[in-house]
Amino acid sequence: MPSTKYIFVTGGVTSSLGKGIISASLAKLLQSRGYSVTIQKLDPYINVDPGTLNPYEHGECYVTEDGAETDLDLGHYERFLNMPTSQANNITTGRIYQSVIEKERRGDYLGETVQVIPHITDEIKYRIKLLASSGHYDFIITEIGGTVGDIESLPYIEAVRQMRWEMGNRCLVVHLTLIPYLAAAGELKSKPTQHSVKMLLEQGVQPDILVCRTERHLSENLKHKIALFCNVEPTSVIESIDTDTIYNVPVLMKAENLDKVVLRKMNMPENQETDLVKWEEFLYRFKNPNDEVTIGLIGKYAELKDAYKSISESFIHAASVHQCRVKVKMIHSEEIEPGNVKDVLKGLNGILVAPGFGERGIEGKITAIQYAREEKIPFLGICLGMQCAVIEFARNVLGFKDAHSTEMNPRTSHPVIDIMEAQKKISCKGGTMRLGAYPCEVVEGTKAFDIYGIKSISERHRHRYEFNNKYLEDFKKAGMIASGINPTDCLVEIMEIPSHPWFVGVQFHPEYKSTVARPHPVFVAFVKAALDNK
Ligand code: GLN
Repeated sequence: MPSTKYIFVTGGVTSSLGKGIISASLAKLLQSRGYSVTIQKLDPYINVDPGTLNPYEHGECYVTEDGAETDLDLGHYERFLNMPTSQANNITTGRIYQSVIEKERRGDYLGETVQVIPHITDEIKYRIKLLASSGHYDFIITEIGGTVGDIESLPYIEAVRQMRWEMGNRCLVVHLTLIPYLAAAGELKSKPTQHSVKMLLEQGVQPDILVCRTERHLSENLKHKIALFCNVEPTSVIESIDTDTIYNVPVLMKAENLDKVVLRKMNMPENQETDLVKWEEFLYRFKNPNDEVTIGLIGKYAELKDAYKSISESFIHAASVHQCRVKVKMIHSEEIEPGNVKDVLKGLNGILVAPGFGERGIEGKITAIQYAREEKIPFLGICLGMQCAVIEFARNVLGFKDAHSTEMNPRTSHPVIDIMEAQKKISCKGGTMRLGAYPCEVVEGTKAFDIYGIKSISERHRHRYEFNNKYLEDFKKAGMIASGINPTDCLVEIMEIPSHPWFVGVQFHPEYKSTVARPHPVFVAFVKAALDNK
């Protein structure tokens, strides 16, 4: 669309300053003024997507409606904006090069030497503008992953420089930096920010706005000093102070006028006043709990807080609905054994077994599920967690002692979880799982139906294995039923135990669809069950 505006968010000094949250917060403010906004993340690594990265490398892999395996920042974008993102919202260097090399092999470059400039930068610019071509957006916010000065982010900064040069003030650069507090000097220090702006300038980009991450308030004097040395207006030096929840950041950015400065610099009207009423209600309920529950989150990455990001955020959304505090206790599945399960899971009001892949920690998960089932503790199993619930039931209720998923034991005599037919001939690992949104029919009269209140739902997926329908009758007779089924291929999407207070396993990932404006019904109901179980 000819009038779409482009906002670039770069980072300097260190990683982990929260570019994703700043991008999402700015987008939220512009959205609340009536503008349509989307956010895109450009990741400088060479993997085509983060689907092949393990959580130690990159935290959670977030899945979009259209089945893209993406950076976890896209989860923040969706949770803040309550709008779906897509494959076009996350581009990596791997994907850029893949497409340029494919074009070269097809002969599209007609004998030219294919180079970083212009071919790679053109491809980057094409991917940025592609989002605008839908004509839906007033603003596209593009977050550039990594830190200015990284070798691998050079082509991205160069693409930003070219777009600025080509489009003038239809483009704006917001640079996020750190203002460290030096205890020995008793002072906030601006030098690292000056250096990182110099680094951007060396690459031909003058930032328009500086968002300064800090643990202490910036004085007006310091803002002026930063403005002078970095060649920006003093009103364009925005303080981003540490805060206890990411959901405060839109409110803090509003107080700092980030959206107003952006609009003024881009010659755009302020439109209506920012409307954060619902957002602030959500925050109020979250920060003023009347009750508390503790949920055990059992997985093999318990020490990594980013590995289950969307699950933790979904609990925050559900907590606000019930105006209660949900304490999520991370429990390492490898630490759970039949001998200690009672002690390790003591005091939990609900148990969630996380998604995952591979053998490690699997027996601990199964042991925890047996405990939740027998002790009647509310249980939610997500993806692998649901598959483990099926395995546990097969072993301990149906008496199939070696029941397993063929992912872990291809020779089991009871493959209650088996590879999907369509997956059998696939050998490449990247982007080949059953990914993205699929429909599910919910059976009336079940807990699943109580949760959703409607028959036809759609949820997002990321798996290769499924419930083996040969066992459906055995399970039903013994008290575990399929309460959600894919209408076209009969794949079991939800399993539950009607005689248990709340025992639900889902093959899909409800956590990818929970937002501030629309907390996910599965989490809302699970937290309610945990409150009832106190
Ligand atoms: N490993 C299981 C499968 O591929 C579960 C995947 C998951 O939990 N996301 O089916």
